[in-house]
Amino acid sequence: MPSRGRETRFVADAMFGSLARKLRAFGLDTAYHREGGDEGIMFTARREGRIILTADRALHARAEAAGVPSFILTGRTDRGRILSLLASAKVSGVRVIRGGRLCSLCGARLVTSERRLVERLVPAPVARRHRLFYVCVSCGKVYWRGSHWKKLSALERAFGKRSSGRR
Ligand SMILES: [Zn+2]
Repeated sequence: MPSRGRETRFVADAMFGSLARKLRAFGLDTAYHREGGDEGIMFTARREGRIILTADRALHARAEAAGVPSFILTGRTDRGRILSLLASAKVSGVRVIRGGRLCSLCGARLVTSERRLVERLVPAPVARRHRLFYVCVSCGKVYWRGSHWKKLSALERAFGKRSSGRR
């Protein structure tokens, strides 16, 4: 059992909704700060022990001045932003530790489920093709290893190589 609570946690600012969903799918607990000002995101980061992810240099500077960990992300695609995140982590001496996959919608834990328990919740061809499903313990969204999952896996490999750290 991986010990819970050691994983790196982030809070993404409003620009980074799709990045937040990907990071959750990679097993990184990422809150998404959809609205509220700099104070709000800094408060969440401090209270929940999260690193701020932002492209806003003013927010980044405020966070740093207040002693709140923050990464400034560059890149126009999520892939570019992820590489930028890993570069920032390296510079800051932060080792990015991933847990199990999380629900991309709400960030809660996923549990595995047999087909018969979810077959009415997914399209019939999907139910026929897959045996194992993953269900969010909070919002109930059902996942399976389909094309979306494969696309994420390609991105995850790039991530994994750089986040494993040296032993
Ligand atoms: Zn969920």
